[in-house]
Amino acid sequence: MGEKAMQGTRAQAGNILVIDDDVDSRTWARVWLGQAGYTVYEAPSAEEGLAQAAGRTPDLILLDVMLPDLDGFEVTRRLRQDPVYLNIPIILVTILDDVRTKVRGLEAGANDFLVKPAEQAELLARVRTLLRMKRDHEELLAEKNKTALLYRLSRELNAELDLDDVLTMVVQSAIASLHAHRGSLILLDEWGGVLRHVFSSHGQAAPAAPQPPVAASPLEPAVLAPADGPPQPGGERCSVADSVRGNIVQGGLAGWVIQRQEAVLLADASNDPRWVRVKGDDAVPCSVLAVPLVHQEQVVGVLTLTHEQVGYFTPGDLDLLRSIASLAAGALVKAQLFETEEQEHRRLEAVLIGTDDAIVAVNHKGQITLLNPAAENTLGISFAEAAGKPIEEVLPGNALVNAFRQVQSGPGRSLPGEIALPDGRTLFFTISSIAAGPRGEGGWVAVMQDITHLKQLDRLKNEFVSIVSHDLRSPLATIHGYAEVLYKVLEGENHEMAGRIMTGARRLSVLVEELLDLGKIESGVETVRTPCHLDQLASEAVETVSFQANANGIALEAQLSPLSRPVLGSPVRLRQVLDNLIGNALKYTPSGGTVTVRAWATEDRVTVTVQDSGIGIPRAVLPRLFEKFYRVPVPAATSIPGTGLGLAIVKAIVEQHGGQVWVESEEGKGSTFGFALPLGSE
Ligand code: ADP
Repeated sequence: MGEKAMQGTRAQAGNILVIDDDVDSRTWARVWLGQAGYTVYEAPSAEEGLAQAAGRTPDLILLDVMLPDLDGFEVTRRLRQDPVYLNIPIILVTILDDVRTKVRGLEAGANDFLVKPAEQAELLARVRTLLRMKRDHEELLAEKNKTALLYRLSRELNAELDLDDVLTMVVQSAIASLHAHRGSLILLDEWGGVLRHVFSSHGQAAPAAPQPPVAASPLEPAVLAPADGPPQPGGERCSVADSVRGNIVQGGLAGWVIQRQEAVLLADASNDPRWVRVKGDDAVPCSVLAVPLVHQEQVVGVLTLTHEQVGYFTPGDLDLLRSIASLAAGALVKAQLFETEEQEHRRLEAVLIGTDDAIVAVNHKGQITLLNPAAENTLGISFAEAAGKPIEEVLPGNALVNAFRQVQSGPGRSLPGEIALPDGRTLFFTISSIAAGPRGEGGWVAVMQDITHLKQLDRLKNEFVSIVSHDLRSPLATIHGYAEVLYKVLEGENHEMAGRIMTGARRLSVLVEELLDLGKIESGVETVRTPCHLDQLASEAVETVSFQANANGIALEAQLSPLSRPVLGSPVRLRQVLDNLIGNALKYTPSGGTVTVRAWATEDRVTVTVQDSGIGIPRAVLPRLFEKFYRVPVPAATSIPGTGLGLAIVKAIVEQHGGQVWVESEEGKGSTFGFALPLGSE
């Protein structure tokens, strides 16, 4: 049986082989069947009949039982042993209308009987019925084969994630299933350019080659003609010039398929104006199938098959190719996603390996999931040993562990901090949360930079500033003293000038005092710690400025939860923190605004926030806010007097107490400054 006949799409009267030694019987059969449109071949003996059957596979055999060489039963048995003849209907023609003959015939594999002399109507009715049954059987078989093929293909495609392999598999399966001569698959990128294309010929595989993006999208099936370039091992080389590709897209068949999202069947492409010819393709006639690959209503590619025989492909073939294309579209999109993810992964890996920043990531349980080479060097641990272990086990006593714990229990915001390593180096870190994916839980990642040299510079600068400040103290006091005397004795313009000198000297003194203060705090010389109740300190701080707030038209409110446990620290310094933050809130909030001071305790920490509805701070400058001398460069802030040292002092004090300080702000809407300190025992 021919491979195309298997698909049951060609309906024709059929070829009938008549094997009979009786000339009259053969003649009647030839005449009657010929009149009904059948093509009849005749054989006068069993041997000749078997030879004819082998030469041109008949659609039905009319077989006499009493032949001179072999009987009809034996001929039937022999035919049925060969799979080629397994499904060809055989009608035994006999003069014996008895049960025994019929049983023998059926057991040998015959389908029906005719008793000689046969009637014309009966002969034709039996032939028609058997041929119809044969066709139905073939159609069922084709449907079964198609289902099996699609099932196998879908399993194979699902198991494959390599994009090039999926492309090649699709083209080769399509060629093999439809017995095409050549096939091509164009995969489009998200902008409609050609991402990949593969070619293959019957029994030959072509490796997929990445294509440079071109303005044009589809690849014309005409390029399925063998290319000029030397064949690659295992495949054909594609040498389609970009210009040809451009033509193909403008007016080509693949472009037509993409634009219309429609499949197409051409009995002879050489006559079709959409078929763009390439050099060397001399209008060779060929039958073509082209179907779009559609995923979520988007064309992602075009699958094309050709066969050199004109009119070779049938509408049934087009249906099968459509089914293959719909399986392929999903598999290709999946493989493409996988490839993109792999690329992302490789890119990230290169960044992680190449960066000087030490990076540590933990999962939601605090187990280490990543240590890049810089982190391995900096922390002196290897990822192989640390992977999957709790971070506190791997880095006992490290400040990073506390920081991870705090972000885990807090809102998970990025948290900056410093780590002093035993060898004297200092690392600056920020921790950010890793959003949880659909399947995996998230985690946190810390990025660390070695800021030892910056710290040294900072220390030198502090020393210098503190020496200079110290030396400025007495001359400033002298200037202020004499200016005050002059202010009192002089009059008019001179009196005013002396007043300005006095104000300037006073400002300078404040600056010098603050600088000396900061130096003292940062040096860590103040080690005396007593139990301090922050709720009480905050309440006193609010009380002290409530008159001033009232006078400025600002509603100052305190929401302080009573704290059962104190903080171990310096009450003077902690009060300084509160005064600075509340003072700033009042300073940078216009009349009519609100300032709210809150304090509450969680398990082992106390948190204080000062929220105002003032001028707010631009997002971009937030990271610089706690730097010394930093003042936000907007007129609304710089028009208010200040030294830019208050927040640096706040930060230094909070950190000396083992805590953290932060700010959240929106320009024009207000700011919230907060700090958290560890609680001591009751
Ligand atoms: P200053 O003496 O300038 O207030 P600080 O160190 O206390 O110095 O504050 C630094 C800068 O931060 C200020 O100059 C101001 O621009 C900004 N700032 C501080 N607190 C607030 C606030 N509550 N609202 C708006 N801006 C603020």
